[in-house]
Amino acid sequence: MTDCLFCSIAGGDIPADVVFRDDDVVAFRDIDPKAPVHVLVIPTAHHANAADAAAASPELVGRLIEVAGQIAADEGVADSGYRIVTNTGDEAGQSVHHLHLHVLGGRTLTWPPG
Ligand code: 5GP
Ligand code: ZN
Repeated sequence: MTDCLFCSIAGGDIPADVVFRDDDVVAFRDIDPKAPVHVLVIPTAHHANAADAAAASPELVGRLIEVAGQIAADEGVADSGYRIVTNTGDEAGQSVHHLHLHVLGGRTLTWPPG
């Protein structure tokens, strides 16, 4: 999709600190990390949000969560605990309208979220 930041990162047109890549999924460090570990996991294909992606391809959403878990392990937070977050829409604070899972860890995360 043109004019989509994360399509451009997935396509390699905009640089990012990529920690994982396969044909369907790319993961890279958030440019403005909110925790010691803050990695974004995205599908290469453009979907606006998790529900849209699940409607089109439930397997893809499962794969994103699998990769998120692998990244948590690689980053050393699988045992201490981590959070997978995906914001949808304005009131949730979604600023990039290409599905992304935030993988957050490395500190105590408060609940409820702000
Ligand atoms: P959202 O607000 O949509 O849930 O999350 C978007 C995330 O993308 C934010 O945490 C923001 O810091 C991150 N972000 C925005 N622009 C860039 C960028 O150019 N590169 C990287 N690596 N992350 C970005
Ligand atoms: Zn996109």
